[in-house]
Amino acid sequence: MSLLKIESLEAKHGLLTAVQGISLDIEQGETVALVGANGAGKTTLLRTLAGVHPVAAGRITFDGQDVSSTPANLRTAAGLALVPEGRRLFSNMTVEENLLVALSAKRDGPWNLATVLEAFPQLKPKLKAAAGTLSGGQQQATAIGRALMTNPRVLLLDEVSLGLSPLAVQGVYDSLRTLMGKGTSQGTTIVLVEQDLQRTFAVADRIVCMLEGRVVASGRADEMTRDQVMAYYFGHRTPAAHEAPTA
Ligand code: ATP
Repeated sequence: MSLLKIESLEAKHGLLTAVQGISLDIEQGETVALVGANGAGKTTLLRTLAGVHPVAAGRITFDGQDVSSTPANLRTAAGLALVPEGRRLFSNMTVEENLLVALSAKRDGPWNLATVLEAFPQLKPKLKAAAGTLSGGQQQATAIGRALMTNPRVLLLDEVSLGLSPLAVQGVYDSLRTLMGKGTSQGTTIVLVEQDLQRTFAVADRIVCMLEGRVVASGRADEMTRDQVMAYYFGHRTPAAHEAPTA
């Protein structure tokens, strides 16, 4: 049974259907990357999975339970955690306070203040600093750490490298690598949006290409080429019969 099952999902912004008929089965321990141009619907899909954007049609099943209309806080408590685009930290609160806020949704598991600081050592000297005074990389580490504090089974990461220096991006991904099970059943399941294709190929087990709210292709990262993905990205390519979109 898939850990996260998405069936014919639709999400709207007013009259605009931003996510249309998306079906995906995501297995425990998989790292799945959503790839697509601006406006393809990646953020809306992640937000709909997290419950901060409503489902207009279709179904989301998490660990066998239909969560399509479950409020976001209860999805977090069940193990679905979103790291939103733009981090959304409480900037006047300290790093420690930002991390501890997540305890209200905490599940049992390996993540606590000590293990988060082990994964993101750059936060140790900043624990008592206001989050708003940190560098972009440190803020992103705090945002991911806050999500980890809930001990998620599925981590939804929306463009964690946006606005960071290459060094900071490397730091964030080095820490994330310890969570990624690379397809094993032990690792945290991750659904991520990342604009850097090279990095996407390096971290993902599976790549899902989105165009205008739909999935236009999906395949194992080691069986897809950068050129194929770029062609889907710009909508220059429609799937041939032998590579019809798969869930
Ligand atoms: P980006 O990489 O720019 O974040 P994306 O693939 O994540 O793009 P979404 O942000 O999900 O795409 O946007 C999907 C569609 O929904 C776009 O046409 C966008 O203009 C529209 N949209 C997104 N947010 C809103 C909103 N708050 N109100 C109205 N339309 C929106």
